[in-house]
Amino acid sequence: MNVSEQFDVIVIGGGAAGLMCALTAGQRGRRVLLLERADRVGKKILISGGGRCNFTNLHVEADHYLSANPHFCKSALSRYGPADFIALVEKHGIPYHEKKLGQLFCDGKATAIVHLLLEECRLGGVQIRTNCSVEKIARQRIGPNRFTLQTSLGGYESQSLVIATGGLSIPKIGATDFGYRVATQFGLPVLPCRPGLVSLTLSPRDLEEIDGLSGTAAEARVSCRDQTFREAILFTHHGLSGPAILQISNYWEPGDPVTINLFPDLDLTETIKQWQKERPKAELKNLIGERLTKRLAEQWLGVSGGNKPVGRYTPKEIAAIAARFQQWRIIPAGTGGYRLAEVTKGGVDTDALSSKSFEAKEVKGLYFIGEVVDVTGWLGGYNFQWAWASGHCAGGFV
Ligand SMILES: Cc1cc2nc3c(=O)[nH]c(=O)nc-3n(C[C@H](O)[C@H](O)[C@H](O)COP(=O)(O)OP(=O)(O)OC[C@H]3O[C@@H](n4cnc5c(N)ncnc54)[C@H](O)[C@@H]3O)c2cc1C
Repeated sequence: MNVSEQFDVIVIGGGAAGLMCALTAGQRGRRVLLLERADRVGKKILISGGGRCNFTNLHVEADHYLSANPHFCKSALSRYGPADFIALVEKHGIPYHEKKLGQLFCDGKATAIVHLLLEECRLGGVQIRTNCSVEKIARQRIGPNRFTLQTSLGGYESQSLVIATGGLSIPKIGATDFGYRVATQFGLPVLPCRPGLVSLTLSPRDLEEIDGLSGTAAEARVSCRDQTFREAILFTHHGLSGPAILQISNYWEPGDPVTINLFPDLDLTETIKQWQKERPKAELKNLIGERLTKRLAEQWLGVSGGNKPVGRYTPKEIAAIAARFQQWRIIPAGTGGYRLAEVTKGGVDTDALSSKSFEAKEVKGLYFIGEVVDVTGWLGGYNFQWAWASGHCAGGFV
């Protein structure tokens, strides 16, 4: 292998985690090279948060992350929290706002966050090479710890090697299984991967019931296993999407039922009884339509016995209607897959990594950070915070 350039640190993957790690190490005085396969760095940041990048969340805590070891993320998240990234955003004069539930978004475009990271990398003297395919990685076994890389741009050598190549979601912008293959090459276990924060698809029978509702949204309480999220759901041509569905998809396993309450703030049985006293001649579809969209009200009443003046419903009919609206139970057929998933669940087993430095316990100098690691956050800025925190912490050690 022809080695042409030497570095202290090579970071593979120019996403959120890789850029943060590179800038931190560079600003410590380490000689850092960052290699990116795509034609530019930070592509996922650019498309995130609808183009405005939901860069962190004020309510970051370990409970909002999934991992085979739920304690693993605690150390990094406590050493580099939302306030640390907010300080960086403010240092660069990027205007931002809280949208809801502690979610912080740029007022303007997500490019501001990529510029911030590039400027900090420049201050740290980080060298960035894009359009680079890493063909082979080897570790020198004799003498000092060194990694040698064969790439489409030539040979490189470094003391520390950081894998920050992300997960499998959105292959069209460059997601690869590279990180998992490197882990396997060096003997680190990789836990099974699945799409996370993703829409759920329905069986043909369930799809018939929601026929014509595509594009309709409603506030709901969505539950699966022991988790419940109260946010919007969105009916689609293939099933269900919207923030509450994306959140619950992280907890859903094939075969699990999902329960949806379309009146999250009231007891519909009691409310209908109240309507029977106060407005007995009003049609139920109109009364329900005042709180849900009319289309949804009509369709759901159609499925659960039809529409008539509210005073004419029997207690048995009311119970059936309330169950339909408040305990709608589906067994999703699947998910929208990696093409639509915001994240990848599973990944490099945290048992094989130090929670302090992210170094592989058995392979000195090899680090894994960001989404490639088996830590997945909720929707709402939690995944970027994980990328910043893991990148920053590893950057302090490499
Ligand atoms: C549409 C969408 C919107 C999102 N919005 C948000 C949001 O608003 N807030 C939030 O917190 N999270 C959001 N996420 C999730 C968030 O983007 C990821 O969790 C985060 O980007 C992970 O950072 P990472 O650096 O680990 O991986 P990535 O950002 O995926 O970066 C990995 C990088 O490695 C490169 N790479 C891959 N393979 C190779 C290789 N072989 N050689 C060299 N380079 C390679 C990739 O091209 C990429 O640049 C969103 C995700 C998607 C898909």
